Amino acid sequence: MYCRIISGAVFGMESDTVYVEVNISDGMPVFEMVGCLATEVKEAKERVRTALRNEGIFLPPKRITVNLSPAYRKKEGSAFDLPVAVGIMSALGKLPKERIENTMFIGELSLNGRLNSIKGVLPIVAKAKREGISRCIIPWENVLEGEAVKGVEVIAVSSLSEVVSFLFGKEIRVQERVRKDSWEKTNDMDFSDVRGQEGAKRAAEIAASGFHNMLMIGEPGVGKTMLAKRITTILPPLSAEESLEVSTIYSVAGLLQKKEGIMTERPFINPHHTITEQAFAGGGRIPRPGVVSMAHRGVLFMDELLEFRRSILEILRQPLEEGNIWITRSQGAYLYPAQFIFIAAMNPCPCGYFPDFHKCSCTEYQRKNYLNKLSAPLMDRIDICTEVHRTGIKHLFQEKEQGEGKKGENSKEIRKRVIRTGDIQKERYKNTEIHYNGELQGEDVEKYCSLDKREKKFLKQIMEKWNLSVRAYEKICKVARTIADMEESEKITLEHIGEAAGYRVGKGK
Ligand SMILES: [Zn+2]
Repeated sequence: MYCRIISGAVFGMESDTVYVEVNISDGMPVFEMVGCLATEVKEAKERVRTALRNEGIFLPPKRITVNLSPAYRKKEGSAFDLPVAVGIMSALGKLPKERIENTMFIGELSLNGRLNSIKGVLPIVAKAKREGISRCIIPWENVLEGEAVKGVEVIAVSSLSEVVSFLFGKEIRVQERVRKDSWEKTNDMDFSDVRGQEGAKRAAEIAASGFHNMLMIGEPGVGKTMLAKRITTILPPLSAEESLEVSTIYSVAGLLQKKEGIMTERPFINPHHTITEQAFAGGGRIPRPGVVSMAHRGVLFMDELLEFRRSILEILRQPLEEGNIWITRSQGAYLYPAQFIFIAAMNPCPCGYFPDFHKCSCTEYQRKNYLNKLSAPLMDRIDICTEVHRTGIKHLFQEKEQGEGKKGENSKEIRKRVIRTGDIQKERYKNTEIHYNGELQGEDVEKYCSLDKREKKFLKQIMEKWNLSVRAYEKICKVARTIADMEESEKITLEHIGEAAGYRVGKGK
């Protein structure tokens, strides 16, 4: 009595088909599971045995062998419980074979036969569809992410008995779909909430328009976090392709079920400075994407940048340079995507109040030392630096309808401009790997940000006056390119260069 069930698993960000083979033969009564399995996979034996017993199915005193293939891949997690249980029932002749064909099963079993949610349903179902599998049976709690994949029949069930009912052609109870409200809606926030701060808002719009990384410097409580949180509201919406990419990461991390099934908003990730290296980069025994991947296609905001450990800032280098991160484990290395707009905030000095000498007592040496903690490779990756001043504070928390204070522009209006600037860049880079000006490096800067004679001379003067590096030159060109695009100007003018130079990083040091 032999049976083979189709299942699937996630390996890093990739998912693959896993076959669960069950063979029941005469011999010493034994139940064994083989095929390069982690401990929790082997523990499926007990969960399956008990769940089956509660279904009224007792394992016969025979030799039961379960093999998970391909054998070269280490199988982890508890998603194989359901295919193992279905395989055993089928091998015992208790299920109609034709209903199992071309169907994929995933899910963790409780002892009472309840089916629990698992991680990575979205990429597993997407892979099943690519493999031509016609039907996927998944845990009810994962229904939204399973149904996000079009072109494959998804049956979401809450228990083993429902699976059996379904396989016998009975209609299964349709449960009401509960969409959890816990998902914080970022679109409740709006740029118009930020009063004053025109300079910082302008810098944020430039950053969003060209996907430039940005550093905000200002004393505590001036609204740096408030501004950063609203940047996702002016970024272009995720494309269908990007949405699937981001959702896959959240699915693998087991966070998608709590949300709307699929990610439609760009993520905003704001880690605390006490975060561990593993939580930041990703990893763990059962590998899980870290904070840098959770921010993929969105914003990674690091407040109090210099409070983070040096090791954390070191981890940032690879994502900022390559848009992804390698996680190395004994089982192999996994590549996770990690392309985001990096927004950082820091105080101007150790006490936070420079240049207000009534409050700041830091010496020039202390101040220099503090700013020097920003490592050069990190600074190289930040295109825009802006100062956020207290002057705007009285506008900050003003009620919308209150007073005569100028009502800021809302996110919807700004986003329209950002999208238009994005379209200009899309057109320019259509036959390249580049999407936005912020990604330009080396030769490409010369190619796409070419300056006329007069502009070149002007930038040269700026370079000499402030003794700027080649990297600073490139950054000014890139930011000037974005400012020109925002004005729909093909030519980069003196004005564009002048403004871009004002955002250079490390000024006043
Ligand atoms: Zn100070």
